[in-house]
Amino acid sequence: LNKRGNIDDEFALINQAISDFTSYHSLLVPNGDDAAIYKPTPGQGQIVCVDTMVEEIHFTKNTMTPFQIGYKSVAVNLSDIAAMGGTPRYFLVSIAVSPDWNAEEIIEIYQGMKSLADTWKIDLIGGDTVSSKKGLVVTVTVIGEVEERVKLLRSNAKPGDMLFITGDLGKSAAGLHYLLEPSNILSMESAPSTLIDAHQMPRPHIQEGQILAFFAEDGISLNDVSDGLASEASEIARSSHVSLVITKEQVPLDRELINYASKVGKDPFEWVMQGGEDFILVGTVPSECVQEVQELFKGKDCTFHVIGYVQEGNGEVFIKENGNLHRVHKQGFNHFSQLKE
Ligand code: ADP
Ligand code: MG
Repeated sequence: LNKRGNIDDEFALINQAISDFTSYHSLLVPNGDDAAIYKPTPGQGQIVCVDTMVEEIHFTKNTMTPFQIGYKSVAVNLSDIAAMGGTPRYFLVSIAVSPDWNAEEIIEIYQGMKSLADTWKIDLIGGDTVSSKKGLVVTVTVIGEVEERVKLLRSNAKPGDMLFITGDLGKSAAGLHYLLEPSNILSMESAPSTLIDAHQMPRPHIQEGQILAFFAEDGISLNDVSDGLASEASEIARSSHVSLVITKEQVPLDRELINYASKVGKDPFEWVMQGGEDFILVGTVPSECVQEVQELFKGKDCTFHVIGYVQEGNGEVFIKENGNLHRVHKQGFNHFSQLKE
């Protein structure tokens, strides 16, 4: 990198950015050749997923630091591995860099990726570096493994099952609301830090997914919450040809979420249902397994909340409040919905 921090040589830059990455697995061919070669663990299914973050769509320089952009680009993929009950092993990064990003920022992005890579002991095994005329784009692919018997599918929900979540919902959307509202920053003495953290540095629920994988044969459906509870619940209900009932009183609301919502005149439950990017897990479990699952979660210091149940139906989601059922319509964020009108 040159004195002004501009990017002259992208390969030197990436090499510098990844120079302190640790290798946790022995690869047949590591990063640096045309492609990497890894050896799958016998008896394990290979899980592959990819997610892209685009500047001005998923983040801006005002809502996220470069470190957080790198962290989150890996976290959202680890969340998909978690939703399959798996263990992450390897990842690849494709990065498109526009002229308004300098070398230090790119190195910081990789430091954010490295922090999660070290937590979960995953190896960076490849990538691609290109330029973009406008906006930074980061695409991460994660490869994980899961025992062949484990299939925690959206289509596994059955009438009589319980609906659960593994953490708090709505916090990320509330944190983003704060970050996008500059007047908040001036008018509030203390920033709602748990909400901002939830948006900038979501923790992938890998351990939670692995506990649920023990119960795979009992029939667990599972989804990570990237688009809001209404949307994720609807995916389970539709794939399983059932309906889901969310009991409003059972849905936990974080104290800081309640406080912030009342300060800005919003309904916190709206953020729970329609927000998104919480990256906790939502799913269903047969009612006879609930107690055992709950105990395992407690033993690992993980959270498990029953928030409703599954009944016969055809893809509907309902909220039950004071004994009455209201139909919920799926409105989670959809990148193409603006185009339809
Ligand atoms: P090829 O032209 O064969 O596709 P490249 O010249 O693009 O390969 O990349 C050379 C090596 O550097 C490859 O092993 C690739 O995986 C790695 N690499 C390139 N860009 C990145 C990146 N952004 N992050 C991590 N590794 C990268
Ligand atoms: Mg090549």
